[in-house]
Amino acid sequence: MTLDETTSQSLFERAKQVIPAGVNSPVRAFGSVGGTPPFLISASGALLTDADGNEYVDLVGSWGPMILGHANPRVVEAVQEAAGRGLSFGAPQAGEVTLVEELVRRVRPLQKVRLVNSGTEATMSALRVARAATGRDLVVKFAGCYHGHVDALLAEAGSGVATFGMPGSAGVTAGTARDTIVVPYGDREAVRALFAERGQEIAAVITEAAPANMGVVTPPEGFNAFLAETAHAAGALLITDEVLTGFRASSEGYYGIDGPAAGADGWAPDLMTFGKVIGGGLPVGAFGGRADLMDLLSPLGPVYQAGTLSGNPLATAAGLATFAGLDDAAYERLTSTSASLQSLVAEALTAAGVPHVVQTAGTLFSVFFREHPVTTYQDAKDQDTAAFGRFFHSMLEQGVYLPPSAFEAWFVSAAHDGDVLDRIASALPAAARAAAA
Ligand code: PLP
Repeated sequence: MTLDETTSQSLFERAKQVIPAGVNSPVRAFGSVGGTPPFLISASGALLTDADGNEYVDLVGSWGPMILGHANPRVVEAVQEAAGRGLSFGAPQAGEVTLVEELVRRVRPLQKVRLVNSGTEATMSALRVARAATGRDLVVKFAGCYHGHVDALLAEAGSGVATFGMPGSAGVTAGTARDTIVVPYGDREAVRALFAERGQEIAAVITEAAPANMGVVTPPEGFNAFLAETAHAAGALLITDEVLTGFRASSEGYYGIDGPAAGADGWAPDLMTFGKVIGGGLPVGAFGGRADLMDLLSPLGPVYQAGTLSGNPLATAAGLATFAGLDDAAYERLTSTSASLQSLVAEALTAAGVPHVVQTAGTLFSVFFREHPVTTYQDAKDQDTAAFGRFFHSMLEQGVYLPPSAFEAWFVSAAHDGDVLDRIASALPAAARAAAA
């Protein structure tokens, strides 16, 4: 089968004339897998429809937010109702309070939270608070972890930076780059050595609560707790980035899997960041944690941080309606769908003799096209991206829309049902054979 791409191709040509690479976020350009990205016109439940009328089962979910599926009636109704009452006030409104109360109720380390408009803003603002609180400049991040396109955090980042094999980004000043120290993920010795040498200069360690932007890497047992302990011993802070894992890896994010293991009085990050799911598909981010740190924010304290559209009533309505749908049954369904899909993919790739590893963090998973488990960015880069490209295009032609990069998580939603899994199952054998070719 060959897809009709006439309209998408013509839109892509037009887009490239006026938008760099024709896209507003790099991975959308299909640069690493080649071909024309479908231009989408609608989405419902687990399905996408493009401008040529092709239908796809969606395994991207807008890169995470669409956890209830597309155009979920409850979310759409909430947004419509909110829109009827005004699009933005630039003034306090009840939805902000209720959404933040929901976050604080669900995630134990959150005492106070501020809403922003993206995950990038959340990590940028959390870093500023950490530097202000400690009076220090250095930030430690892990190779392969992506925290948005914050200048200070682009060194050896995952996601699009990994997809395009970039060491970092042009346009970041040498001073900013000097203030960021990159350590191999999971390497306790490297963290200890760094703190022994420069611990008194370090404001914070930032880590994805479970890395998912070099593909999914399950954190080594106790690693986040170790980071908290090491940072605290030196007077530094730990920021766990749950923008992607938050309310996806589990009902509390990866912290829900990792945190309570240390007991109710166990370790906690000082600051956390969120995005994606908490906005249900509209632009939202959040950062929060210890009240004493969050109270450093203006106008209570000296750290300036603001936003014309922050706490926007449409975004908070979408987030609240999403949380209303995220009950235990939804998580049970996400867990079982994710597990079924992992087995289907593994069976098909095994049958075709394609080396692969499936890795998980709660309900989140990804597939690496290599033989051995991935624990570092170096491992993640050592995979057969050409085989992934052939697999990707075969799936796309058969109506399954995967992330167009070997370095991304695959996203299911609570709307992915048995029918959808059957459609994926019937596409997998040919795609696995294409990957083997
Ligand atoms: N942090 C993590 C862990 C992410 O996965 C992302 C986006 O993928 C971000 C931060 C940045 O979020 P946004 O794209 O909303 O700026």
